Amino acid sequence: MKKPTRVNHPPEVALPPGNRALVAPIYQSVKFEFETVEETEQYLRGERPGFFYTRSSNPTTRQLEQLLAELQGREDCLVTATGVGAIAQTLLALTRAGDHILCFVETYNPTRYLIRRVLGRFGVTHTMLSIEDTTGIERVLAAQAVRLVYFESPTNPVTKIADLAAITRAARAAHALTVMDNTFAGFHQHGEFDVDVFVHSLTKYASGAGDVMGGAVIARAELIRTLHADFRSLGGTLDPHAAFLILRGLKTYFVRYQAQCERAVSIAQLLAAHAAVARVHYPGLPTHPQYALAARQMRDFGTIVTFDLRGGEAAARRFADALELFALTPSLGSGESLILTAQIMSGRELDAEQQRISGVTPGTVRLSIGLEDVGDLTEDVTRALAAAGP
Ligand SMILES: *Cc1c(COP(=O)(O)O)cnc(C)c1O
Repeated sequence: MKKPTRVNHPPEVALPPGNRALVAPIYQSVKFEFETVEETEQYLRGERPGFFYTRSSNPTTRQLEQLLAELQGREDCLVTATGVGAIAQTLLALTRAGDHILCFVETYNPTRYLIRRVLGRFGVTHTMLSIEDTTGIERVLAAQAVRLVYFESPTNPVTKIADLAAITRAARAAHALTVMDNTFAGFHQHGEFDVDVFVHSLTKYASGAGDVMGGAVIARAELIRTLHADFRSLGGTLDPHAAFLILRGLKTYFVRYQAQCERAVSIAQLLAAHAAVARVHYPGLPTHPQYALAARQMRDFGTIVTFDLRGGEAAARRFADALELFALTPSLGSGESLILTAQIMSGRELDAEQQRISGVTPGTVRLSIGLEDVGDLTEDVTRALAAAGP
């Protein structure tokens, strides 16, 4: 073998029997081969296990999929390049022209765009209610055929809580699928409810470091098999190296989530007691209008603390600019604390009534609580509240 040939066929290093890596290697390979045409054909007919092309499946992404399915309490999972990729591919794979979707004003902005603008182009219609309108949900499901109900809990940014038992019961009775974006609550919550499909952004709590993007769809095996057939051709596959980074991040998921929640409770309490603050939206505070529902459904209340400043937009701007530890940027779930103001996060296409339902006012501020020392966070927020003025 000449050297130009050898560099393209380097020596293989196989581990001897009884010897293994504690952390699985990254299968940074697009292609996998079988020895013979016969074996390849068997694989393509689904008659033997294995891997062939990473867009379809890869051992590193598969390890992440199996772990996430177990964390969320479902049979199987597909991972994608981003959270929005997971949502878009799931909605495309589950709907056809003439289908109707029940969704909510409080839904994540890009998801609303997907349902209204993208699926709308393909003849999929929708009804958009408030997530708090449980009777409205039952009424729509009783009045017409609904393919799927798409919701989140807690919602972004004002942390409204979806009544999971009521929604899943009504959807099941109407033979509608339920698809829940569970990113805010995390993989360890809501699994005991009768939700058909969970979607997650892995960009947030899973990686935890804010340096990698990913998404996941988690459901029963038969649904995942159906989705996989379309996902292979939609092409939003997660890269194996990103899967490795997310697997690494997940090792500290539980301790990070817990620690961030503890800090979030402290900050929510501080805000609730402050004269400059009109209202705090945090489902773990007994003053949250849906506290009882949240306490029934959740073990941890999340790391998003949203509040309304009495001083409106001018106060929100002063508060955001005065903070030193909180970065003025989107996302959540990483070690750094973050802040968004209403001007940056509002859904611009909502009409006046929908804006009112969304709960976002000009003085609304969303904090994503990170892993900094709680004393430092408290000091920063207290100082910025003083700067925001009455
Ligand atoms: C961030 C986020 C997404 C989108 O995830 P990306 O990884 O940024 O594409 C979807 N839903 C919720 C609730 C999110 O917070």
